[in-house]
Amino acid sequence: MNVIFQRVGDPAADLSLERRATDLADIAQDPRPVDLVVVGGGITGVGVALDAASRGLATVLIEREDLAFGTSRWSSKLVHGGLRYLATGHVDVAWESAVERGHLMTTIAPHLIRALPQVVPIMTNTALGSVALTRAGFLAGDLLRTGARTSARVLPPAHLLSAARVQAVAPGIDAGHLRGGIMAWDGQLVDDARLVVAVARTAAAFGARIITRAEAVEVAGDHVTIRDHLSGEHLTIATRAVIAATGVWAGELDANVHVHPSRGTHVLLDADRLGNPFAALTIPVPGMSGRYCFLLPRPDNTVLAGITDIGVDTIDDVPVAPQEDIDWIIEQINRVLRDPVTREDVLGAFTGLRPLVTLGSGVTGATSDISRKHLISTDRNGVIMVTGGKLTTYRRMAQDAVDLISSAPCHTTGIALVGASPDQSQRAHRASSIPIPS
Ligand SMILES: Cc1cc2nc3c(=O)[nH]c(=O)nc-3n(C[C@H](O)[C@H](O)[C@H](O)COP(=O)(O)OP(=O)(O)OC[C@H]3O[C@@H](n4cnc5c(N)ncnc54)[C@H](O)[C@@H]3O)c2cc1C
Repeated sequence: MNVIFQRVGDPAADLSLERRATDLADIAQDPRPVDLVVVGGGITGVGVALDAASRGLATVLIEREDLAFGTSRWSSKLVHGGLRYLATGHVDVAWESAVERGHLMTTIAPHLIRALPQVVPIMTNTALGSVALTRAGFLAGDLLRTGARTSARVLPPAHLLSAARVQAVAPGIDAGHLRGGIMAWDGQLVDDARLVVAVARTAAAFGARIITRAEAVEVAGDHVTIRDHLSGEHLTIATRAVIAATGVWAGELDANVHVHPSRGTHVLLDADRLGNPFAALTIPVPGMSGRYCFLLPRPDNTVLAGITDIGVDTIDDVPVAPQEDIDWIIEQINRVLRDPVTREDVLGAFTGLRPLVTLGSGVTGATSDISRKHLISTDRNGVIMVTGGKLTTYRRMAQDAVDLISSAPCHTTGIALVGASPDQSQRAHRASSIPIPS
């Protein structure tokens, strides 16, 4: 496959105040409708903008705050192969995740993703049935990885570890109750918001106009009225199509879309406090089938611990992590740690809202149901709404959405994001080039 790389220093990929002003002036002066207005500058919206612009559509993206203002900056920052969906029987979603992880790690964004080893510890009180189930799950994950043509040099197959090896890669673990572990590999983003910005800049390089600090206040199938938060002025943009990717705020634009957000909290710990782990720890939550807590080492010498999953009634612009979530995470991770962490060890916490969406009678034409985790629907005004999904699967979501308005082929599996280079040094992010502590 021929991969399109962005030119280093290409001004077309720059997003600046000057460019914003020029783009807005051009839009205001040209009476012709654009091909597409995308509402929302999270990973889903910028993915749609890149897909559309690279198919040659005249595309404008409107974001009322800054890029990645919403859920896209509060994630666990994993590019994962969908193992958790296998556990719930959603093989199609798991397959999609595995395929997209492969595209991201090898072609689209290898410079923003590293291979991360993850260990499920086997403790003296871990039931044998649970060990067998985890092994079977990892085996299925390997089959998906192989099927998705992600090589074992990028992500090695899962394998058993002795107790000593688990301690070597996760020194904070309570060795007294340790029998061994199972190690598997997945992808980890340097930063989720950086992925969003890289996709937006790549879309800009293909000609998309990325307008931040502008809110879509009225949306119909043939026009979008925006309020410029910097000037206070309103502007109506005539368009042939609208795709709304407003995440947990989807219900604001269409009363027929009902969002039921779920709060996911993470806490940040000092990596030194946990013995500078090399591998992530995946800790099953007792009494909750398929639920895990994670300790994810980050390149900046911190460890991300999480995650909660609690339904909430209100949608705060910037949700705050409640103490009860932090305490729950501490309780879960302390079940496997030698030196239990306390509230005082917590460097910080953040929380994001997962958009779980149900549709009222005015919304039709869903191309995916909620069980697939991403939903594309069209309202009675012709506005296409894309919600749910994952950071990992943004490219596929975008392709599915843009397919509804364009018959031109999608190219995004072969478009490397701004900052990626054909240079072989990027292979450093692959598992095969990472020395494992022994
Ligand atoms: C706690 C947590 C952890 C997660 N971890 C992972 C993970 O490790 N890996 C993974 O693959 N996925 C993960 N996910 C899922 C992933 O983060 C989300 O699926 C994804 O970020 C959703 O992106 P989005 O673009 O749809 O929504 P958002 O990122 O919320 O973007 C919506 C945007 O729309 C804008 N907007 C809203 N209304 C308007 C308007 N009227 N006009 C203009 N702009 C508007 C908002 O300001 C916002 O920027 C996680 C999710 C959560 C909650």
